[in-house]
Amino acid sequence: MKILVVEDEERVAHFIQKGLKEEGHAVDVSYDGEDGEFLGSVNDYDLIILDLMLPKKNGIVVCRELRAGGVSTPVLMLTARDSVEDKVRGLDAGADDYLPKPFAFEELLARVRALLRRQSDNKSPVLSMADLSLDPISRRVTRNDNPIRLTTKEYALLEYLLRNPNKVLSRTLIGEHVWDMNFDPESNVIDVYVSHLRSKIDKGHEISLLHTLRGQGYLLSDNSPPT
Ligand code: CA
Repeated sequence: MKILVVEDEERVAHFIQKGLKEEGHAVDVSYDGEDGEFLGSVNDYDLIILDLMLPKKNGIVVCRELRAGGVSTPVLMLTARDSVEDKVRGLDAGADDYLPKPFAFEELLARVRALLRRQSDNKSPVLSMADLSLDPISRRVTRNDNPIRLTTKEYALLEYLLRNPNKVLSRTLIGEHVWDMNFDPESNVIDVYVSHLRSKIDKGHEISLLHTLRGQGYLLSDNSPPT
């Protein structure tokens, strides 16, 4: 999934970015409130991790302005300390959750998973379709109980498809949610990854789950798509 991290402490920002990338997420980083608000309003993120104390514009103002502009992306606010006042201001500004610093990375990941789940069409902790399943906690993928080994990017692609089951997803949409802002939408990278993923999840199975709709995009479904 695609996540924006707005955090002015470079060390913390890179630590979060590296950890989330290892989990298969596409991560953009911004170091001040103005730039963060701009990125959050022009790109379609699945989650925004927003520090409270930021140069140029603080996290409360950024969150309030994003909400006023119609951005409904879940926001996880990082507060500098365990202050009730900061938490209340953050939640009142439209944040969905908060995490006081310093935090354990495991806790950040658990909150990220919960927020992504809340917003997804697929609310269960383990994502599945027919006999295919993906567990975001153990990162284990199986089909008919047989483990499937995926690369980080193939995993991210499958997670996005499973969070949007039975929906036609265009290449643009997939690019926006699975790749970071340096992704070139003109390249055929998505088709290459889809073809690798398809051979890993569908090959040798009677029912194909990953379908191509020519000129439209891709669909994960256990029903045959309309032709
Ligand atoms: Ca800060």
